[in-house]
Amino acid sequence: MKYLIAANWKMNKTVADTLEYLELFLPSVKDLFEIEIMIAPPFTALSSASIKLDTAKKEGEYNVKLGAQNMYYEEKGAFTGEISPLMLNELQVDYVILGHSERRHIFGEKDELINKKMFSAIEHGLRPILCVGETLEERELGKTLNVVEAQIRKALAGIEKDMQFLDIAYEPVWAIGTGKNATPGQAEEVHKFIRSLINEMSKGNDDKTRILYGGSVNENNAGDLIKQPNVNGFLVGSASLDPERFYKIITKVLEV
Ligand code: PEP
Repeated sequence: MKYLIAANWKMNKTVADTLEYLELFLPSVKDLFEIEIMIAPPFTALSSASIKLDTAKKEGEYNVKLGAQNMYYEEKGAFTGEISPLMLNELQVDYVILGHSERRHIFGEKDELINKKMFSAIEHGLRPILCVGETLEERELGKTLNVVEAQIRKALAGIEKDMQFLDIAYEPVWAIGTGKNATPGQAEEVHKFIRSLINEMSKGNDDKTRILYGGSVNENNAGDLIKQPNVNGFLVGSASLDPERFYKIITKVLEV
């Protein structure tokens, strides 16, 4: 299983910013195949990023994949403001981030909707990264594992047998964008629990499912976090916005 290091740019970067970033970033990861890298720009920059990656791949070898930050589950129709899996397929998008805590908490997405999106993504050949994680209040009440288990069981209801086609990101809500990352021990405890849960749910069919950690990952904490046996990569927000910082995180992973 290759580590996956994924960049979630959230609502940052125009098309021009995206192209400038890729121009700087891509040469640093040419011929780097030990790990997989994914970049999720905003929807408006997906097309340009896709063309840029395609051109780069004609000129050299890159293991850089394209991701979307969200999608709706229907293929088309009267869903103003939404983006469908077919639209992502057309742009050669490989991954889609689903159930991010900002989608859950700012936009009110519920587990049932996330479950429909998970089904649809897999059906359309997109690899979903399901985000789960507890709030600070839930952690302080000792409910972390219960919350994470409920989110995973509900989001994956009916698709347990397809576990090899998806990845999971454990992102404690209190660690996202706060500069306060989970300690390696805290992350490992939850990752180990998720591994045994998905192993049981999929009846052992989880050997291609990576469990990423997300929440204030940066070049200083990445090295210790990735050494944990059940941490299979990262979903990086703010530190991925700078190509040099994102590359430094990648180098920490390569050192393991
Ligand atoms: C994220 O948005 O998935 C994330 C982990 O953000 P940050 O790295 O900024 O905490």
